[in-house]
Order: sequence, then C-alpha cells, then structure tokens
Amino acid sequence: MFQFDNSYARLPDRFFASVYPEPVEGPKLLKFNAELAEELGVEADFSDPARLAAILAGNVVPPGAMPIAMAYAGHQFGNFVPQLGDGRAILLGEVVDRNGKRRDIQLKGAGPTPYSRRGDGRAALGPVLREYIVSEAMNALGVPATRALAAVATGEQVYRETVEQGAVFVRVAASHVRIGTFQFFAARGDNDGIKLLADYVIERHYPELKVAENPYLALLQGVAARQADLIARWMGIGFIHGVMNTDNMTISGETIDFGPCAFLDEYDPMKVFSSIDQGGRYAYRNQPGIGQWNIARLAECLLPLLDEDEEKAVEAANAVLKAFGERFQKEWIGVFRAKIGLATEADGDGDLIQALLAAMHEGQADFTLAFRRLCGAAAGTEGDELFLSSFSHPAKAREWLELWGTRLDAEPQSPTERAKTMRSVNPAVIPRNHKVQEALSAANYGDFSFFERLLEALEKPFEERPEFLGYMQPPEPEERVTQTFC
Ligand code: AMP
Ligand code: MG
Ligand code: MG
Repeated sequence: MFQFDNSYARLPDRFFASVYPEPVEGPKLLKFNAELAEELGVEADFSDPARLAAILAGNVVPPGAMPIAMAYAGHQFGNFVPQLGDGRAILLGEVVDRNGKRRDIQLKGAGPTPYSRRGDGRAALGPVLREYIVSEAMNALGVPATRALAAVATGEQVYRETVEQGAVFVRVAASHVRIGTFQFFAARGDNDGIKLLADYVIERHYPELKVAENPYLALLQGVAARQADLIARWMGIGFIHGVMNTDNMTISGETIDFGPCAFLDEYDPMKVFSSIDQGGRYAYRNQPGIGQWNIARLAECLLPLLDEDEEKAVEAANAVLKAFGERFQKEWIGVFRAKIGLATEADGDGDLIQALLAAMHEGQADFTLAFRRLCGAAAGTEGDELFLSSFSHPAKAREWLELWGTRLDAEPQSPTERAKTMRSVNPAVIPRNHKVQEALSAANYGDFSFFERLLEALEKPFEERPEFLGYMQPPEPEERVTQTFC
C-alpha cells in the first residue's frame, strides 16, 4: 500500500525507539482521504476493507515500514521536560510523494511506546476527528499544516474524564522533527546528535542552505522565517493554536498538534480557549511572542554549531531573534493589508489595520464575518450597512470606513477587482468551534453526517455556497464554545 523510503529510522539508535503498534480490538475505517492518498502515491485497496482498516489502525504493519517512536524533549508552558517523545504516536515510515517531497506517515493513538510515561498510548474519537477537520481546513485555507490521511475507530474504549471511544489518526507531515527534538540532544550535552539532526533537517527541509557560508546559522534563520510566516497566517484567520510548547513547533514550518486549538468568534486579542492554559500564555495575541521565545530555545541548542567563539555565537543567535520580530511584523502587515484590500504599501497602514481591530474588539465583531463583509463594502457602498451590522456599537467602525475610503483613493485597483482579491483571502467558512463541537458530539453517537458535511463545507473556504450558509454564521449564544480540551 505504501512505497516506503525511510530515512529517520536509519539515524543512530538514540534518536528513536523501535516499537510496533499494539493491535486493537475492532478496527473500522471512519474516513479516508483519497485525494491526499493520490498525491502521496498511496494505493488503498478498497476491495479488502478489513485489511485496509487493519493497516491504518496498526494491526497489520505493511511491508517496508520501520515503525518507531521519535525521541524529543520540550518546554511545556515554559517548563523544560528533558524527555517527552512520541508517547502515543508511531511513525510507520516515509514516502516520497508525486511532487518528490518526503512525507511521514504516522499513526497517532497506536499504542504505548517507551515514551508513554503514565499515558495509555491511545487517542479518543473526538480529538482524532478534530485534528482531521482542522488540519484539512488549514490546508484548504492555504496555511501550512500536517494532513489527515485517515481516521479509524479501534472498537476499544479509552478512559479520559469520561469513557470515550478509541480511534487512530493517520497523520501525514513533511516531518515530525520539532524544536523539542533538538532540545532532547542539547539536554544531554550530545553535540554530535545536534549536528547529525541539523544535517538531517537541512537535507530534508532546507537543501538550498547546504551551500550557505554557515548552514547551521542559515538553518536557524530559515526555521525562524518559516515560523514567523506561519504565525502571521494564523493571526490572519483568527487561529489560536493553544499549546505552542516547543515540542509542538515543527522545523518544517507546518502547523502541528490540533489539541485544544480554536478559532476566534468575536475579536478579542487576549482570547484563550484551552482549559489547561490558565495563565493565557498561548492567547491569540501572545502567539508571535511565544513563537520568538520558541526560536530562542532552538537557538540555544544550535549555539555550538553557530560559531566556535561563544560570544559570536550568541550575537548571531540574537540577530536571528531580532529578525524574527521584523519578519513577523512584515508578514503580519502583509496578511492584514490584503485582508483590507490594499494592493500597495503606505505609511500608516499598520495604524489603519490596528484601528479596525480596535473597533472590532470594542464592537465585539465576529472576526471572520466582519472581514468577509468588508469585501462587500469594498465592492460598493451598498455593503457598508451589512458590514456595520457585525458590530454591537458601530460608531467606531463607521468612522473607520471613512479612513479606509480615503486610503483606498490612493489604490490602483477598481472596487470590483479589490472585492474579488479580498474574497480570496478573507474566508467565508472556517472550522467554527461550535460546528466542530456539533460534528464531534454527533460522531460520539455514531452519526458521522455532521462531520462529513463540515468537511465538505471547509473544502472551499473562500466561496459562499448557499448550501453551506449555516457554516458562515457565528454561534448563537447557546451554541458558543468557551473552552476546549486536549
Ligand atoms: P501533546 O500535549 O499532545 O503535545 O503531548 C505531550 C506529550 O504527551 C507527548 O510526549 C505525547 O506523546 C504525550 N502523550 C499525550 N497523550 C498521551 C497518551 N494518551 N499516552 C501516552 N502519551 C501521551
Ligand atoms: Mg504534541
Ligand atoms: Mg496533542
């Protein structure tokens, strides 16, 4: 089924633990991503559904697989844990996709590993479907993210706060190397390990940097740039990751780990959904600062490779951190300029964007809907009232429309062109928390129709398809999700 071509499993033993998935009672395929399978060159034999489910649940290890649990460390909410590792995920192997890109095939929830600590090695149905929905939605929204190949029910129960149905999630990633993977070796003073890992990720994710004067510094710069770009994209769609621990930040620049993630309904920069984020460390507006903090942790690991002279190494690392801030700022402005339909740059654009956000905050405007309605306002004056109706007190927003109108006078695009480009960056459909919740709740009762329909709605997030109108609306007060759980 998979044409495996494994590379990580050929690294030295201390990088991982070889471990086979633990077979489950009753594997049943819930969802298979045929389009992604095609892209990966994965051939699924639907004439033998039992075998297909058995492979995707980990009951049958397909030929060519070299199953491993990866070793990593990480800062969790700021506290360093020297050994985490894949406690419930098993990397089956890698495939090279139709575009020549190497991709990991990982089973999440496939049983205990040497890194499980007190965990059961399993995943519950709800979180598996959430990851399926949100990671595919991110992809459709154009935000780099891991992908969902399949979800399989295990026929077993898992014990969380309540008894839940078990499931396995088949995840596809550019790789699963994280900042925490570097920290694992740094914590052990294993400089050879750090260098081997750095060489590995340069080859796999940044081959163009091999010829750089200092490839390791270039790597740090590269990761910083991709993370800055990624977080700017999150901000643009109102995405709150929820657990930006260093073990959840990839070296490839893909979004990973969709545990307690959520999307803004009404705009509130301090918004936090995760039940475990008591201090609001990972609040919406803290994300870029945390991204930079995480890059600082990566920089610490790479210091020995940056320069023989420690002082110079620190200086180089500090320059990267500064560049992260500048890059983020530039990307963020770029993202929001596009959202308000500016094709050119002018001084004061940052203030104009901030003024809109302030009006949205004060007027409790739904982030996604307000920006989408702004596209209508861009098309002509008839959309103004609809846009303003997103605000509980529209006075500031009305003033803002004036400022915006003046700024648009200096723009080359026609209103029609502008509205069209705005509609290509301001989504109509996002995985709204209450819709995700609805899909998960129904699935827990065996009804997958809401899950299927939500996935369909999210396939074309920039189109207003009348049959998916319900997915474009903010939650009713009684539908609001105020907290998410890992
Ligand atoms: P996460 O919060 O999902 O980023 O996971 C943090 C760490 O806990 C990782 O090392 C996971 O592998 C581990 N972990 C999470 N859930 C489980 C579980 N049910 N069984 C074993 N390990 C787990
Ligand atoms: Mg994780
Ligand atoms: Mg998780």
